[in-house]
Amino acid sequence: MAELNLILLGPPGAGKGTQAGLLTEDFGLPHIATGDILRAAVAAQTELGKEAKRYMDAGELVPDSIITGVILDRIGQDDARDGFLLDGFPRTVDQADSLGAAIEQTGRRLTGAFLISAPDDVVVKRISGRRIGKSGRIYHVDFDPPKVAGKDDDDGSELVQRDDDREETVRKRLAVYRRQTEPLIAYYDDLGLLRRFDGTLGPSEVHAHIRAAISTLQREEEI
Ligand code: AMP
Repeated sequence: MAELNLILLGPPGAGKGTQAGLLTEDFGLPHIATGDILRAAVAAQTELGKEAKRYMDAGELVPDSIITGVILDRIGQDDARDGFLLDGFPRTVDQADSLGAAIEQTGRRLTGAFLISAPDDVVVKRISGRRIGKSGRIYHVDFDPPKVAGKDDDDGSELVQRDDDREETVRKRLAVYRRQTEPLIAYYDDLGLLRRFDGTLGPSEVHAHIRAAISTLQREEEI
């Protein structure tokens, strides 16, 4: 298979980032996470970051006009020549249309849209319990707690909760997901690109299922 151009779909907290990290190790593809790109822009106080921040803090999507250009530019960069893993984009039908048009224009094509799903209560518990150390190390108050509550094991610094990880914001993000992003499931199903994965399973099990799906796609390509 020449290129592996994958989209990861699913609600926040379903495990897209974790799977993208594992697939990046497997295939050496760039993990393009729009949330991470936007958070870096906010931290660096760039124009993009300043514009995006208020939407992100409120759990809303940043406007398509702000994000789409950034991502289309990113997948055209050198390290994405053999493929890419999009995590958190597209999140609206407009974004999906722009992505499809840009990909077609450059003679590429999408390999698959992988949906990782999990019920609301599972993702709320996962996300609202997340705490982050200064180094970027991520803990969970129940599933992966630090040795001393509230302190980073590495440097003892105070752990913090991302503003948009608070329960009420997570519920808002989920409502936004249902309304604006879920239509993409039918969108990619109609294009024959959708594959479904159960995000309530452990990370290595989900990973094994995704690897199997990629192998199948690669075999189909060879036939
Ligand atoms: P994430 O870490 O992927 O959940 O993204 C965090 C926040 O960044 C989201 O709640 C949105 O405000 C914003 N964001 C990330 N990706 C997109 C996108 N494709 N379109 C619009 N907003 C986005």
